[in-house]
Amino acid sequence: MNAEQAYKDSGALLEGHFILSSGNHSNRYLQSAKVLEDPKRAAALAIDLAKQITDAGIKIDTVCAPALGGVISGYELARALGVRSIFVERKEGQMELRRGFEVSRDEKILICEDIITTGGSALEAANIITKLGATVVGFSALANRGFCKREGSDTTPKIECKLPSDLPLFALADFEFAMYTPDECPMCKAGSQAIKPGSRGN
Ligand code: ZN
Repeated sequence: MNAEQAYKDSGALLEGHFILSSGNHSNRYLQSAKVLEDPKRAAALAIDLAKQITDAGIKIDTVCAPALGGVISGYELARALGVRSIFVERKEGQMELRRGFEVSRDEKILICEDIITTGGSALEAANIITKLGATVVGFSALANRGFCKREGSDTTPKIECKLPSDLPLFALADFEFAMYTPDECPMCKAGSQAIKPGSRGN
């Protein structure tokens, strides 16, 4: 399945005039929850992502997603890989492993997001897992916004990328958008009003 086409077909790749979570403006926006609205499509995307990871020879015991964004993609990826699925979530701003989930020492864990922008939440999830004694073996996402370098892509990671450079990032596609500060935005200059589509798409 072509990931970009899947985003377009499901209405997850919006075109217009948007305010990103960074405050910058863009003419495109990813609404990742929409691509997962159809469970069959979600499963097919996860199978493609799992194949990349398996082909790379990475051994994984468990997929861990940062809630809320990563939960569905993490669960589908775990199903495709035939491994356990857990998630971490924020409580009073701090990422925590709750709900009776546990990790064991040296358990090999892959962090999974729906979309990696700078990788901030994915890194927070990785830090919790490491603190609990398990081993983070890599990062994954359906979509990569192009700040971080995914396996198989020849893009250069940008300064904003927070993910460690010694661990792989697996993603189905790069979605690099034109971005403008509000002062320089040509759409604003043309008189159009930017909208914020809602969490968290960027
Ligand atoms: Zn604008």
